[in-house]
Amino acid sequence: NHRIRLASRPHGVPAPEDFVHDSAPLPVPGLGEALLRTLHISLDPYVRGRMSDARSYAAPMEIGDVIVGATVAEVVASEAEGLAPGEIVLGYGGWQEYSVEPAATLRRLDPAVAPVTTALGVLGMPGFTAYAGLRAIGKPQQGETLAVAAAAGPVGSAVGQIARLRGARAIGIAGGERKVEHLRGLGFDEALDHRAPDFPGRLAAASPRGIDVYFENVGGAVWDAVLPLLNEYARVPVCGLAAQYSATSLPEGPDRSGQLLGQVLSRSLTLRGFIQREFREEMQEDFLREMTAWVQDGSVRYAEDVTRGLDRAPEAFVGMLRGDNLGKALVTLG
Ligand code: NDP
Repeated sequence: NHRIRLASRPHGVPAPEDFVHDSAPLPVPGLGEALLRTLHISLDPYVRGRMSDARSYAAPMEIGDVIVGATVAEVVASEAEGLAPGEIVLGYGGWQEYSVEPAATLRRLDPAVAPVTTALGVLGMPGFTAYAGLRAIGKPQQGETLAVAAAAGPVGSAVGQIARLRGARAIGIAGGERKVEHLRGLGFDEALDHRAPDFPGRLAAASPRGIDVYFENVGGAVWDAVLPLLNEYARVPVCGLAAQYSATSLPEGPDRSGQLLGQVLSRSLTLRGFIQREFREEMQEDFLREMTAWVQDGSVRYAEDVTRGLDRAPEAFVGMLRGDNLGKALVTLG
């Protein structure tokens, strides 16, 4: 069983030495468990957080742990009732060829409904994050303007497309011309490159009626450009801060948190952080029903960025953090 484990806690951007590649005997399933062969591994930004030992919403990995991650896998052997070899499931096997998991934690996937990799992206946790953050916090209304960064990724692209289905105007922000073109193709009303010169001016020009919903995925300079454009009663689902996940020090400059709170107060802004699992019980069923229909009829489209081979997972992961991926970042095995 080839696997990739955490060798050391990264300082800043993860380096090849932070990962160790090795092999172990095949694990054996106990009662109620299944042996799974990994087909696809999801690469997600939160895993960078779990490599550190800083306190967060999820416990850190320990040194020596297999790198965590959601997986689409095939059942090889099953000691659980109702789960048979050959079935395809959504699990949490991480960066290894085989895993043993409790059958009760697996979700069976039907390739006839949608390609099984969508369970890691648009029909999985990232798509759910977009759906729940908008429904619970962002609440885009007909005629309003929504902006979202990391817009070419699985969360951001779903955010923009769902907002448009709800009647809002969607501005997508992403890194580089290739992604900007992609967003236009997905139907975003405006698409902007956050690395372009005068990005703040371009964003202002693209939002003549201000911004009513800003779905926060990145923080940093994009947030600085958005803040002055937020309308009274604007809602900001704070979903992620990708711009600072590998930061090793505070940014230069004076403390502006007082000014920020002043703007929250004077414009009656709502900033609300959330972790998607908070809304699972309440919204998972609606999400699967609505999103599956949208994917099937083409009203929500998605892209995947596939890297082949388990050994290349670390470089693909670092590339995703940097923004090399266009669409959901995946590793497909053998
Ligand atoms: P993506 O595939 O979109 O990858 C992250 C993207 O962040 C990169 O591709 C890059 O895109 C962008 N980025 C990185 N650095 C910067 C920067 N300095 N400035 C602007 N953009 C930057 O990831 P996901 O769609 O999977 O996740 C999007 C966000 O949602 C992340 O912050 C993630 O942590 C968060 N999330 C939160 C959840 C929750 O429950 N709260 C659940 C799932 C995800 P670009 O090239 O466009 O700059």
